[in-house]
Amino acid sequence: MRILIVGAGIVGTATAHELARDGHEVVVLEQQAAAAEQASFASAGLLAPALLIPWAVPGVNGRLARRLMGSRATMRLMQGAGLAGLAWLWRWLRAGHQAQAAERLAALAALGRDSLQRTQAIAAMLDTDIEASRGTLVLLRQHSDRQLLEPAMQVLDAAGAPLREVDAETARLIEPGLAADVPLAGALHAPEGASGNCRLFAQLLRQAAQERGARFVFNTRVQALVPGSGKGQTGQATGVQLAGRTEPVRADALVLCAGQASAALLRPLGVRVPLMPVHGYSVTAPVRDDLHAPQGSLIDPQHRITISRQGQRVRVSGGAELGYAGGRHDDATLRTLYLALSGWFPGGALLSSPQVQVWRGARPTLADGAPIIGAGPARGLWLNIGHGASGWAQACGSARAVADLIAGRTPQVDLAPLALSRF
Ligand SMILES: Cc1cc2nc3c(=O)[nH]c(=O)nc-3n(C[C@H](O)[C@H](O)[C@H](O)COP(=O)(O)OP(=O)(O)OC[C@H]3O[C@@H](n4cnc5c(N)ncnc54)[C@H](O)[C@@H]3O)c2cc1C
Repeated sequence: MRILIVGAGIVGTATAHELARDGHEVVVLEQQAAAAEQASFASAGLLAPALLIPWAVPGVNGRLARRLMGSRATMRLMQGAGLAGLAWLWRWLRAGHQAQAAERLAALAALGRDSLQRTQAIAAMLDTDIEASRGTLVLLRQHSDRQLLEPAMQVLDAAGAPLREVDAETARLIEPGLAADVPLAGALHAPEGASGNCRLFAQLLRQAAQERGARFVFNTRVQALVPGSGKGQTGQATGVQLAGRTEPVRADALVLCAGQASAALLRPLGVRVPLMPVHGYSVTAPVRDDLHAPQGSLIDPQHRITISRQGQRVRVSGGAELGYAGGRHDDATLRTLYLALSGWFPGGALLSSPQVQVWRGARPTLADGAPIIGAGPARGLWLNIGHGASGWAQACGSARAVADLIAGRTPQVDLAPLALSRF
């Protein structure tokens, strides 16, 4: 089949790679000059446990979210969020209480697990270093936090990715660089936890897909989706209208992987998806002293901050802003990130180095926290969008699922809770 993909972020490049592996003729259309220039540029890097990535789910339950995430880690409404932002936030806050919430969480956990295996298998196949690290620690400041995490732990248990409770001493053996003087009641350890460099992996996937014949067309903006019509040989194939061109480009199938821009592209087809950009930050600094730096990844649930090792660098990430801040960085959030890194790992990173990279990016997030993976609203149109805070963790699994659907095979993960029809 000839298949068009819109978007070359981590989701689009992973989809291109899977479809090229299946032997399709793949063309990726990307408005930027390279892959992974938007949401996938400097994500926190956590691959697992995907459910515990801050802002990955609307809260296992409201009380848990409030107690665990603390007032300093709330989603902040910025200027320009408007009524749409408020309405979205209302849906997000309620989503954790919906009847379908448990089903969705189970689907996300299964997808995360499947995706992790696929990401690691692809990295091994490509035989390259994706700055991967092993093991994730969830830092608990109080013993009672353990009890509050129970619902998330049950879902992870059922999905075959259990967390192990460890005391503070063991946590410090796992991560010897952890500050001795910061109070720590204990931690939850996911030995199978993992992190890696999302942007680097997207570039490797692009290259691997190209080697299998996929074509990436950069600096090319899709202005509109052109739905297919009719049935089989008699109908018109689906396609896109490119900016600056008069005739649409058509193909047998079209996969939308345009991140945050997907909502606007779907609207003319009569589909409104509640997709919002939830902005966050990452600060990446060179390792100063390996002994004092993190070895794997860590989650500080009180502040919804993550710290991960990325090769010879350390990355701290957090913050959640709804709406447009005029491109300005929020100094208070950045201060919290710097303090968290130097507080948990004193002397671990060179925070005053000119090589420090500060990034603000948008998590393309649907109101119930889960992506849409499956058939779109027109013949030949497929959706792989809205991966929110865990797009890196879900990319390879989502890509395989879409490739299976296009081939008429049943995907390994149950996609029913992630269908477009839920909106
Ligand atoms: C601070 C922060 C921390 C994060 N941490 C993690 C983490 O630890 N783990 C994790 O799993 N995820 C994390 N994420 C989320 C993750 O980065 C995103 O879910 C993921 O990058 C989304 O990928 P995507 O390919 O859907 O979107 P994008 O990377 O945004 O890709 C979409 C692409 O489509 C292109 N495009 C859009 N419109 C058009 C058009 N009209 N024509 C042509 N091209 C178009 C864009 O240019 C872009 O390249 C984090 C995000 C942020 C902001």
